[in-house]
Amino acid sequence: MIKVTKFGGSSLADARQFQKVKDIIQSDSQRAVVVVSAPGKRFPDDNKITDLLYLCHAHLKYGVSYEGIFSMIEERFYAIKAELGLQVDLEAEFAQIRSQMHKGMSIDYLVSRGEYLTAKLMADFLGYSFIDATEWVSFTYDGKLDMDKSEESLSALFKEKSRVVLPGFYGALPDGKVRVMSRGGSDITGALAAAALDAGVYENWTDVSGILMADPRIVENPRPIAHITYSELRELSYMGANVLHEETIFPVRKKDIPINIRNTNEPGDPGTLIKQSFKKETREERKRFITGISGRKDFSIITLRKGHLTADIGTIRGVLAIFEKYNVPIEHFPSGIDSFSLVVSTEKIKPCIYDIIGEIKGFCEPDSVTVTDNIALIAAVGRKMASIPGVSGKVFGTLGANDINIRMIAQGPDEINIIVGVENKDFEKTIRVLYDSFIVGGKDA
Ligand code: ASP
Repeated sequence: MIKVTKFGGSSLADARQFQKVKDIIQSDSQRAVVVVSAPGKRFPDDNKITDLLYLCHAHLKYGVSYEGIFSMIEERFYAIKAELGLQVDLEAEFAQIRSQMHKGMSIDYLVSRGEYLTAKLMADFLGYSFIDATEWVSFTYDGKLDMDKSEESLSALFKEKSRVVLPGFYGALPDGKVRVMSRGGSDITGALAAAALDAGVYENWTDVSGILMADPRIVENPRPIAHITYSELRELSYMGANVLHEETIFPVRKKDIPINIRNTNEPGDPGTLIKQSFKKETREERKRFITGISGRKDFSIITLRKGHLTADIGTIRGVLAIFEKYNVPIEHFPSGIDSFSLVVSTEKIKPCIYDIIGEIKGFCEPDSVTVTDNIALIAAVGRKMASIPGVSGKVFGTLGANDINIRMIAQGPDEINIIVGVENKDFEKTIRVLYDSFIVGGKDA
């Protein structure tokens, strides 16, 4: 079995972090594939290499000198090379990048150099082979990742080279030009590599000991999650938990390859294991029905009232089509007999709210259309909710007892989440109350 490992920017921020990565790789011979991000922050006010590269391109575009920023980037890489005594010809690499600067270099090419150079240095440091992302990660002309083609290419390349370092975050368009993924995309590269090589596990090394049950900025010292399913993770990430790039699970889920989130600075911690399902659970998990809590602020609820709405065939479809026309995604859709609501992101609807309401009025002459802003959505997520009666009753009872007014309730058909809409001002309190009642102290916690 091989393990695909991916190291994030904080795990590669300087030579000391590179050394930690090497120790981790050398402590387990199954760790044959290493995917790297670009160096991140060494301390809170530091800069991420990728941010500097984007900034450098902006300077280039507007004809402002990029020299100061580009030298900061060069210095970071030269320092790592010098401290670790590496052989990579960085002078030639930087000369190559500089030579492209005034020849209409694409932004994607420039920002991809962070991962490219990091992988070069790491390959030298570990004595592993370097495979460029443009050799295997393929995009279609419309910018979509071609997962099947990418996986086939890597499994063909891997046969000859059994220990490799791969830069994350980018790949090639059909004409060979570099294309980057969205920010944090190295997580996806790691998942693609794990799927391509049928890895036993995809280890994602970062600077926290796993996914936390709630946002540490809201809840003090939240506990880490030992086990979480792919679907639960999707729900938590979509609702704001910032762990992995949200596209990460798709390549590995189809082959049920577990993802293990680990801490480069605490390599002994088991971290979080993400899988399709779990046979064994910890004692604490057996007693608990909520895996994690997350949420987002700033939603708007658009409510339409009209007598005999349910009997009026086509009204709902027509209203939805208006939202589609203005490209506003609908998050939730609570409905009554003579009314229904659409829950949407305030940011997305703000520029076109009057147009949309005008069109709705013209289309179906409703009795009223109201807009309620400042709504926060909070999701309590747990795979066991579906089999335990009374979970939602307990959630609502607890919020009521704490004077939190619930403006909306939703539960997905899989019954692994309960979503409540509250006012923005109650956002933090709701998360704390749920965490304290169901994860820490409650009878059923
Ligand atoms: N370096 C890129 C970023 O900062 C990609 C990554 O880290 O995954 O977004």
